[in-house]
Amino acid sequence: MQETAVAEQVREVVEVVVEVLREPKPEEDSPLVATNSFEAQALRAEIIRVGRKLWERQYVDGNGGNISVRLGSRYVLCTPTLLSKGDLEPADICLSDLEGNILAGDRSRTSELLLHLEIYKANPRARAVVHCHPPYATAFAVTGATPPNGLITEYEIFIGPAAVAPYETPGTQAFAETVLPFVEEHNTILLTNHGIVCWADTVTHAEWLTEIFETCCKTYLLAQQIGRPLQLIPEQKIEEILALKRRMGLPDARLARSSEVATPEQGENAAELERMVEQVVARLEERE
Ligand SMILES: [Zn+2]
Repeated sequence: MQETAVAEQVREVVEVVVEVLREPKPEEDSPLVATNSFEAQALRAEIIRVGRKLWERQYVDGNGGNISVRLGSRYVLCTPTLLSKGDLEPADICLSDLEGNILAGDRSRTSELLLHLEIYKANPRARAVVHCHPPYATAFAVTGATPPNGLITEYEIFIGPAAVAPYETPGTQAFAETVLPFVEEHNTILLTNHGIVCWADTVTHAEWLTEIFETCCKTYLLAQQIGRPLQLIPEQKIEEILALKRRMGLPDARLARSSEVATPEQGENAAELERMVEQVVARLEERE
């Protein structure tokens, strides 16, 4: 069995264990307790920091863009509507459930929270979402195309092929659902005629993806103006990057395609790992 396939299965075991450990604690039952928790305070501070970075980097204009993060298994903290991401205060951040109902906070939530919620519901690995309108990435969104792969290592490692979601009216449920076909294998999705959305394990990391993608779009456009042929990363080196991504547990649509055919040995190991997961989960449940 290949080392990379083992690593992927171990990662899946770890993800299941982490998900079990995230089961709601009794104190999470109350939105009031959740919104006043130390964890919520730290996450609000992180949202405010990231909002400031988005505004300073000119990735948001007017009241554009929005940020959210999951709090435990039931709640989401998100930015409000009609406020610049450069001017956020802790009291501006709303607490919502996974259906978009506001449970705490004085302001109305962003209408684009529906987009974030669809991502969370479709992919449990997404714990934070950043949506913004960086000019170079949005230029690609206007054309409905992504920059090509195989040119910039950061783009290959942290993003891989980005997806393009079709146009829909922002703020609607139909708009929120445009990303669903892509959200499992792509952490960065272009929203046609609109901007981009990125998901990650933390708000900070989701913002890093927006920086990496925007820089890639800008670099690609600049490189085309130099007047020399673009140098592609050799295919074998791309394979090395994909092996690294598999070990790191980073999503990439190319990984799914390369692991479609499982050998009988892989099947046996998967069954063994499944039994291990069941044992770990049973022990954790006994502990409570
Ligand atoms: Zn937007």
